[in-house]
Amino acid sequence: MKIFNTLTRKKEEFVPIEEGKVRMYVCGPTVYNYIHIGNARPMICFDTVRRYFEYKGYEVNYVSNFTDVDDKIIKAANEEGVSSEEIAERYIAECKKDMEGMNIKPATTHPQATKEIDGMIDMIETLEKKGNAYKAKDGTVYFRTRSFKPYGKLSHKNLDDLQAGHRDIKVTGDFKEDDFDFVLWKPKKEGEPFWKSPWCDGRPGWHIECSVMSKRYLGDKIDIHAGGEDLIFPHHENEIAQSEAANGVEFARYWMHNAFLNIDGVKMSKSLGNFKTVRGISEMYDLQVLRFFMLNAHYRSPLNFSADLMDSAKAGLERIKTAVEKLDGIKNDGEMTADEKDKLKIAESFTEKFETAMDDDFNTADAIAAIFEFVKFINVEVNDASTAAFAGSLNDSLHKLTDVLGLIVDKEEEILDSDIEALIAERQNARKEKNFARADEIRDELLSRGIVLEDTREGVKWKRA
Ligand code: AMP
Ligand code: ZN
Repeated sequence: MKIFNTLTRKKEEFVPIEEGKVRMYVCGPTVYNYIHIGNARPMICFDTVRRYFEYKGYEVNYVSNFTDVDDKIIKAANEEGVSSEEIAERYIAECKKDMEGMNIKPATTHPQATKEIDGMIDMIETLEKKGNAYKAKDGTVYFRTRSFKPYGKLSHKNLDDLQAGHRDIKVTGDFKEDDFDFVLWKPKKEGEPFWKSPWCDGRPGWHIECSVMSKRYLGDKIDIHAGGEDLIFPHHENEIAQSEAANGVEFARYWMHNAFLNIDGVKMSKSLGNFKTVRGISEMYDLQVLRFFMLNAHYRSPLNFSADLMDSAKAGLERIKTAVEKLDGIKNDGEMTADEKDKLKIAESFTEKFETAMDDDFNTADAIAAIFEFVKFINVEVNDASTAAFAGSLNDSLHKLTDVLGLIVDKEEEILDSDIEALIAERQNARKEKNFARADEIRDELLSRGIVLEDTREGVKWKRA
């Protein structure tokens, strides 16, 4: 199995630290609003990586954090007049709902920065003792970047070549020793959440959070560290500096980065305002379509969002579902015929192709092509006379592959608009008759089928969640 390692810029054979186990850490979102579909890209890609490792028999310890203390969260809290904690908890809950919709497995652990402050203080103290960190006169604790000789090894940047101007470079009023030093701990400002520390009341810098949460849940040395490519520099570079300086061992063996999800050729981001939330997309499409759309591209290729591509993803997914439905419909008893047994052998080639694609740095685009070949084979080779044993065996093989991609291909009986309207009318009647139990029952039944009701002044409105 080969993985493209950002560290070496090469595809390398995956060799786990511990046989049969994978320890991986994926940088998660900052929770100050609904996640957008750019944030969903690493979630979907690395969930698929995890699923493929599991398919191969590995036990995966998958850790993905929520950054729940940050300037943007504080700003959102101040605008709403609520606490940062309330904002973070709200959007963690919403993010988890979106993840469920995209069929992203919950991580083994989803740590939150604010619950790991002690570990951060410990690591900063270690860095200070080792001479890799210092307290400036305003109380800010900085990492002494030039004290970590391999700095720049991930982003392949040389400190002397680096231009001033990135987000950690000295700003007016800094008391840094050197422009490249970055913040580990910063003093509190009026109205901000803070914690006590040996240096001052304050809060951690962003980079130290991931170094500490990774260490706590996965150990000093991990197999894979992943995130979007915008994190290579400075975030991941700084994580390496902190972790390796503090722990004295290599931090992560393989660094994986997904390319951007773009819109009109520009990175989708909150700050540019060109984003679409996962929640918004869920009102137009089943989120399985979003997942399938993302996986149609290799994770290291930029991907442009468009309604056309989403519609073709929808049609492609439908083709797979129709093949599954066909297989489900075959009920003939009896033993598999010799001819069917031969055909099953041919069908094995699709699984092999799928695995070859996934073994090559998780090439989901080619893996999906193998699934489509499989679907075509099913359409040609399965008919009303086929045995259920044959159809069932093909169905199992196909499901194993779609499960790796996290695709749900069993058709749920779709509820028609007219049925929804009829149930809403029945609910209104039940309410008139003060039969609130029945009214609630209808609401819950619709909800369980993905229909959300909203009581408005103009009457009841509904949408597919
Ligand atoms: P953030 O909340 O900005 O820290 O981002 C959370 C994760 O989403 C990180 O791994 C980012 O690299 C990733 N990400 C953000 N925007 C995009 C995008 N447009 N395309 C792909 N990944 C993104
Ligand atoms: Zn991180």
